[in-house]
Amino acid sequence: MPDYLEQKRAKNRGELDRIIVEGKHQPIVTKEEFEQVQKLLEDKSSQMEQCRKNRGVYSDDLWRRKLRCQCGHSFGKVKWHTKTDIVTYAYKCYSQNQTGTVSARRKNGLSTEGICPVALVQDWKLNATAQKVLHDIFDDPEGTLKGAAAVLGGGVAGVEQTEVLRDKSIIEERLKKEQGRYETLLDMRMNNEIPKEVFSRKQQEVEQRIRELEQQMAQYRDVKPATEADVNGKLEALQRLMGQFTMPEDGEFTADDIDKYVYGIRVYEDHFEWLMNLNPDARGELDDAGSPVYFKTITVTPDDERAWFKEHPKWSKSNKYVELEARIYI
Ligand SMILES: [Zn+2]
Repeated sequence: MPDYLEQKRAKNRGELDRIIVEGKHQPIVTKEEFEQVQKLLEDKSSQMEQCRKNRGVYSDDLWRRKLRCQCGHSFGKVKWHTKTDIVTYAYKCYSQNQTGTVSARRKNGLSTEGICPVALVQDWKLNATAQKVLHDIFDDPEGTLKGAAAVLGGGVAGVEQTEVLRDKSIIEERLKKEQGRYETLLDMRMNNEIPKEVFSRKQQEVEQRIRELEQQMAQYRDVKPATEADVNGKLEALQRLMGQFTMPEDGEFTADDIDKYVYGIRVYEDHFEWLMNLNPDARGELDDAGSPVYFKTITVTPDDERAWFKEHPKWSKSNKYVELEARIYI
């Protein structure tokens, strides 16, 4: 092995192996230095984790850019099905890469507490829903404008109860309650009102619930109540958008259209939230969505899905037709 300090070769008589036996040799890196580096690496990876969790991903893949899980994480892309001429994909919440999915954990007898329950999302579901959402918005511009005016017309007062913010305040409330419980628990233990074992068990339960609620809060981090200007701006933007829009000739919205008109999609256990971009010239992703206002809910039915597969015969349908609920936000 080369001895870099002496710039001449010395034979390795096992020094390399022995040097790592702690305490026997002068260590190359002190224990303190090693621990410092480990700490730095840990901080770095938790920063990266935080970044991935809250800021989305930069990817060539449309759906990886657009999807965000209810637990706050982005999605990874996994191969779903291979047919001779087409590969289909599904999207999986990143948190499940570390924890495993709920069903996998169940199979292995592991606890599913605090594990993100969101199932894989197959690409065909996203594509079929995208067509229905965009057609719903653009097929009847007058109807859409009327509907939007009804939702936004009351100004701020009218949209204060939008679902996103209502959900946010419900979670905030619960979080406060759990934090209160935690403090009561500490008080009780300090005054010796409950035995240590009971305290530990209760403490773990409350901590778990707080962690879950904090996770849920993460997705609302950037959601602010709509201001008067937001609300007025939305209606104007929608009017402008309807004026500029031309329907694709074959009636099929392309990936580029979806990229333009959709900020992003929040994926929940039992529904999706589609956040529309009313200023498509300025492209944007979920984090640019500002103050989304609930507009309407549409359902993609098994019939819609059958129709979609009929138009895309190459696509392999490898799981069953289900009703998909899409809540549209503007
Ligand atoms: Zn998740």
